[in-house]
Amino acid sequence: MNTDIGNTTLRERIISSEFQSLPPHHALIPINNATLYYSLCDETLRQIGRFGGNDLVVICDSETIQQLEEIDNFLPNVSKMIVLGLPPSHWDIPIETHNPPPIFKSTDHLFVLVSSSIAISFVGTIIKRDGANGHTSFDGGWSYHRTYIQHLLYLFAPSLVETFLSYKEDPDKITEITTRIMAMQAELLSGHESIIDMDKSELATVLEILKVISSKKRAHDVLYVFVEQTSRVIPSDRCSIVRVWGQEDTVHVLASHDDANLYDMTVPLSKYPEIKKALAIGDKIVINNVRADPLMQPCLDSLIQKGINSILVIPIVLYDPEVGSLLLRAVRKEVGFTLREINFFEIVTNAAGSALERAQLFESVQQANKTLEKLAVTDDLTGIYNHRYFRERLEGEILRSLRYSVPLSCALFDIDDFKKCNDTYGHLFGDVVLKEIALRMQQTVRRTDIVARYGGEEFVVIMPQTSIDGAYIQAERIRKVIEDKPFDYLDKSVSITVSGGVAEVVQNETLTVEDLLRIADQCLYQAKRSGKNRIIAPKQNNLS
Ligand code: GH3
Ligand code: MG
Ligand code: MG
Repeated sequence: MNTDIGNTTLRERIISSEFQSLPPHHALIPINNATLYYSLCDETLRQIGRFGGNDLVVICDSETIQQLEEIDNFLPNVSKMIVLGLPPSHWDIPIETHNPPPIFKSTDHLFVLVSSSIAISFVGTIIKRDGANGHTSFDGGWSYHRTYIQHLLYLFAPSLVETFLSYKEDPDKITEITTRIMAMQAELLSGHESIIDMDKSELATVLEILKVISSKKRAHDVLYVFVEQTSRVIPSDRCSIVRVWGQEDTVHVLASHDDANLYDMTVPLSKYPEIKKALAIGDKIVINNVRADPLMQPCLDSLIQKGINSILVIPIVLYDPEVGSLLLRAVRKEVGFTLREINFFEIVTNAAGSALERAQLFESVQQANKTLEKLAVTDDLTGIYNHRYFRERLEGEILRSLRYSVPLSCALFDIDDFKKCNDTYGHLFGDVVLKEIALRMQQTVRRTDIVARYGGEEFVVIMPQTSIDGAYIQAERIRKVIEDKPFDYLDKSVSITVSGGVAEVVQNETLTVEDLLRIADQCLYQAKRSGKNRIIAPKQNNLS
């Protein structure tokens, strides 16, 4: 343990003390005023009192305990009270008094509450400024991050660590309490004249984010509001949450502040050296001039093309087997990130991070959203996506493709001589064919492709991250699975074929849904004209 305490504050000494499981991004929500510190400790006691529970342990220094108005009301509910230093003499409840460990100085403050369902901690140091008329300031913060609290127990009450690890916190209770503390903090600070506007909006934002986390049911909304709100306070040209699973070489962009419809876009990790480095060192990465940073040299051209000047990456969750590694990434075209802004990003990711992790929402992001969306966006007959959804989705995919320079293609199919099929075998058989074709198409495409019914007997497939050559191969595969197996009708087998046209998004050329569909449709038309049961791509066709 680091015992060279010098002029450091308790907050700093806790961070620098050795303990393997303390995460690198454990920033506290700051408290820079002793009155505020006492008020928040009191409010916490009041809130925890409402929840009752007879297994509550309090660890506190003797100075803090003297200042708490609620403590007398609350003491009968405490199962164990550990005081660092001497407790007030008038108390007649059993109190364990501990000599403070060397890490703890006389001007330090500590208040930790641990029960089987809730844990919360406050730390701080009163700093006496030399020669400033006895003027003092306060350096501290609070956290409900369990790893941080575990670290505090290890330092101040090691015998409790094992019990603490066996506890499972109650997410609803902790959200309610932390939201109230945050609200109180914002309220008290907003009445404080010395606090500049920035602080108020910072806290209001952290509060907003915590509120949202407790109110949103859809996991993706939580992620989106998180980045969206954060970028209201600290503007950036893009602010996103990304995930990397284990040793995977892929980055999943789960949410981006400028695109509410972005759910899970995958990009090769090699395009993000800054994320690679953040994962390697387990800490934030700040690049305030991409041109000057050797790390960014391999992808400098693409950054310059996008006009990106600065990049900030902050880990939210690292190496969780269920969640993966989760990071916040913000980029700017103009000025770099200031220390203050970086600090805010750290606070906000920490405040929201453990709540997000706890909800295990990342695993369910796609799942939850898919179920809800399916209801309004599927075609009744075939069960695949309908035209409306297809259009919206293609629009979003085109924007993404252009923005991130990843390929995107689509393929349009039309059943050959379907009118004749209907006329010969009846409309009901026609419907069976449509259903079966939808099924075969879905079974043939990649998991990330989107199959939709474009119109009566026309189908479309959106193929993200696929260039025209790949799209042609894929469309051919679909054509073949339809041609190869006849469709059963009573005792007959009816052969059905389809024709198709493919198109790819090209920077500066195909920029809209209409552009892309026009090209695919022209190719489809060529396929029909040249004998049906074939796929035509623009190159073969000399179409642009
Ligand atoms: P081509 O090879 O040029 O595409 O000829 P086609 O007969 O397939 O094209 P046309 O556009 O003349 O006919 C399309 C037919 O698709 C007409 C319509 O009755 C049929 N159709 C459209 N929607 C449905 C549907 O939901 N169920 C059934 N059974 N038939 C449908
Ligand atoms: Mg047609
Ligand atoms: Mg047809």
